[in-house]
Amino acid sequence: MSEQEQEPVKTICPYCGVGCGIQVKPGDEPGDMRFMPWGDAPVNEGRICIKGGAATEVVDHEDRLTEPLIKENGEFREASWEEALSRIVDELERIREEHGPDAMGFYGSSKVMNEENYLLQKLARRYGTNNVDNCTRMCHASTVWALRRSLGAGAMTNSMEDLGAKADVFWIQGANPAEQHPIANSQYFRQAVIDGATVIQVDPHANKTTKSFDIEGTDRHMHLQLEPGTDIPLLNVVLKTILENDWVDEEFVRQRTKGFGDLEETLDDFDKEAAAETCRVPLEDIEEAAEKYATAENAAIFTGMGMSQHSCGVDNVQNEINLALVTGNLGRPGTGVNPLRGQNNVQGTCDVGAMPNVLPGYQNVDDDAARSAVEEVWGFDVPPEPGLTNVEISMEAGESVHGLYVMGENPVMSEPDANEVAERLERLEFMVVQDIFMTETATFADVILPATTWAERGGTVTNTDRRVQRMRPVEKVHENTRHDLDILAEVGTRLFGEDGGFDFSDPEDVFEELRQVCPSYHGMTYDLLGEEGIHWPCYEPGDEGDPFLYEDEFTTSDGLGYVEGVRHQPPAEVPDEEYPLILTTARLIEHYNTGTMSRRSPTLNRQTPENFVDIHPNDAERYGIEDEDDVIIKSRRGEITVVANVTEDIKEGVIWTTPHFAAASANRLTNDVLDERAKIPEYKAAAAEIEVS
Ligand code: SF4
Repeated sequence: MSEQEQEPVKTICPYCGVGCGIQVKPGDEPGDMRFMPWGDAPVNEGRICIKGGAATEVVDHEDRLTEPLIKENGEFREASWEEALSRIVDELERIREEHGPDAMGFYGSSKVMNEENYLLQKLARRYGTNNVDNCTRMCHASTVWALRRSLGAGAMTNSMEDLGAKADVFWIQGANPAEQHPIANSQYFRQAVIDGATVIQVDPHANKTTKSFDIEGTDRHMHLQLEPGTDIPLLNVVLKTILENDWVDEEFVRQRTKGFGDLEETLDDFDKEAAAETCRVPLEDIEEAAEKYATAENAAIFTGMGMSQHSCGVDNVQNEINLALVTGNLGRPGTGVNPLRGQNNVQGTCDVGAMPNVLPGYQNVDDDAARSAVEEVWGFDVPPEPGLTNVEISMEAGESVHGLYVMGENPVMSEPDANEVAERLERLEFMVVQDIFMTETATFADVILPATTWAERGGTVTNTDRRVQRMRPVEKVHENTRHDLDILAEVGTRLFGEDGGFDFSDPEDVFEELRQVCPSYHGMTYDLLGEEGIHWPCYEPGDEGDPFLYEDEFTTSDGLGYVEGVRHQPPAEVPDEEYPLILTTARLIEHYNTGTMSRRSPTLNRQTPENFVDIHPNDAERYGIEDEDDVIIKSRRGEITVVANVTEDIKEGVIWTTPHFAAASANRLTNDVLDERAKIPEYKAAAAEIEVS
């Protein structure tokens, strides 16, 4: 399926969910690729951030995996593709025979394309299990759950261009777009503030986003610096203030929502003063923010992992939905509830069904009619019961799960309580990893397959605002590596035969089948996607796609938006005598999730080569910590040594660190307690202790 282009190639940045267009010219020698301006790129108009600008550095990196590897007596040895693929197929067949199909788990990845994730989930289901998931579980599973239940679709309601041009107020809660979505922040949000919009940011950390709105000559930015895990009480103060002041959009509530009475009842005896104290934010600041949001002509909510990664993540997001619904800020340009998704294909990975409870297009696997329609195209039966999520699969390793198929994921770094995850993977009978580098997870594998990078393959990715875009190969496939798509097609054909449903010639061939089973992609073809891409839903060829959703009605079963009052639920672990601090975690602009690529990128790694912790000066003094001291952070699950950054950017009693660095990943400390419904872990709040190393 390889394809070489000698002219500059227009493709999509492989990093974040903004989905910036980039133009790259292949070089004659490895490492010679260079960026060219793509001034009319649809999302970013030619601008890129430091991470996008360094994306070529990993493509020809000397650490690339170049041969299939098989583990023998605890050591990896090189193997032929034939031997590696035969081993995989033999082991998958053995596990199914000995333990049944649910003894396997399959991990898709938001780093790879729609076609590849589509094929992986089809492989899992053809094998006989719905135990297939992707890293969305770790970032926005709760957001998707709440949005699907209360509005209809688990995605951004609006699009970035629409919001940048039309929103008067941006409510950004638990998101740090200046680090995680830099071009969206600079091109749309910051520019809108320069042009007159107001930003209300709700976050425990004074971060790069906070500073980016410090714009000379403007005073249109509020930062509500709450304590981690108090988002529900803060939003309840906002909601109660709106009710008290008659800022409710009564017509919208009457005609387009249900459940308002439940919210009124929840807030009836709600004590705003006590709640503001819980949040450690002045009550009058929250009330002022409520007025700005509720009285704006168009107000848009942006939500990030500071909201979703909690054991009450679904309720956190539900309260943002409540805010938008009661003020009528949905179904118009410049409004909505908009999750800022992490990776460049995190939206698409879910859209194409790499999840245990839904088939492509978010059709529930336990919906008989939807499942039958997909089965008819696929030609085999799909199990009707939802499968395990990825964290559950990992928790079941060595118990009910005996084998794992990992495509481009790194759970030893990305899952909470990472020391325990590593121990669990040791208990598996068999694990295969497809990746471009030897990851921390791959070291536990039995077979490793060398895959291609973003620059060597084509396909489609879906960015944070539902825009499906084409990626195109820039340079030739590295010798002896293979596309994830080709590997999956080969494994599927070997397992299920020539007529087993895995005989695809290229990504477009896969996309043609995907659009048959995914209604919101049905109107798209590679030709129609062109260079602009299309926002889903796009039901028929010729549909232009929707830059904003729900103009006339929501896509819930009754067409209404669901309001539901929610009450404060503290994090599962709160500070105590032994662990008196709240540890919270977040990512940096220079690094990307588990750092597999960004730690190997000289430009990015030079900026921040090691992990650090932000600690308030009063806490630092109490612990005898000086700026730049090596310190040990401990939780009930492990400890890491990092450098202290003494700063007032973080509240007293709270410490803040990152998950990117293998030697000192925050996930050795984080708590693997899950949101009951969405099964997302609570990365954002754990009890911790700190001491000088
Ligand atoms: Fe890439 Fe995101 Fe930066 Fe755009 S903002 S260049 S998509 S990392």
